[in-house]
Amino acid sequence: MRIGLGYDSHAFKPGVPLVIGGLKIDHPAGLAGHSDGDVLLHAITDALLGAVSAGDIGTFFPPSDQRWKNADSTIFLETALEEVATAGYRIVNIDTVLILAQPKIVPIAGEIRARVAELLNLKPGDVGIKAKTPEGLNQDHVAVAHVVVLLEPIAATGDLARMSATADTEIEIDTVVRSLIDDGGTKRALGRKKHFDSDDLT
Ligand code: MG
Repeated sequence: MRIGLGYDSHAFKPGVPLVIGGLKIDHPAGLAGHSDGDVLLHAITDALLGAVSAGDIGTFFPPSDQRWKNADSTIFLETALEEVATAGYRIVNIDTVLILAQPKIVPIAGEIRARVAELLNLKPGDVGIKAKTPEGLNQDHVAVAHVVVLLEPIAATGDLARMSATADTEIEIDTVVRSLIDDGGTKRALGRKKHFDSDDLT
């Protein structure tokens, strides 16, 4: 398995649409940014890219590139999902924390969760949406998102499914589990990069 961590922040700006987790939210201020400023999708994108050691959102979508001006952040997310699939992994679950003073997230957390689950092709039960106000941080003008994601190898889950369907004895299960563990090198080779190197420090 692999774990990914993502973080992002954007300042509020009056009069622009507010989009969080791919959901348009009725609010007098949105988030300023080169793209649509979707702080949650940006943090999820970085968590996914980080989990497969594929750089970060800026590697793929530099703010200097005019193509991404006002871009829908689901484009960034789709690219990260492709990188995860190319590396031979899929998402097990994702957990998030939003830190913002307004709007209150609790009443719309279910909607955000459903939208994020839809975008990631997950069940809502595999997506955590939590929110806090920035108590004592003096940053009421900013929205922050923290995200962790857990991935599992696609091939290994197939092997495990076959194992449960065909293994008759505990010895057989032991053998299959051992072969999966011994196959760690091959599984890692499915990844986009075999080794962590300085390129990963983007
Ligand atoms: Mg961002």
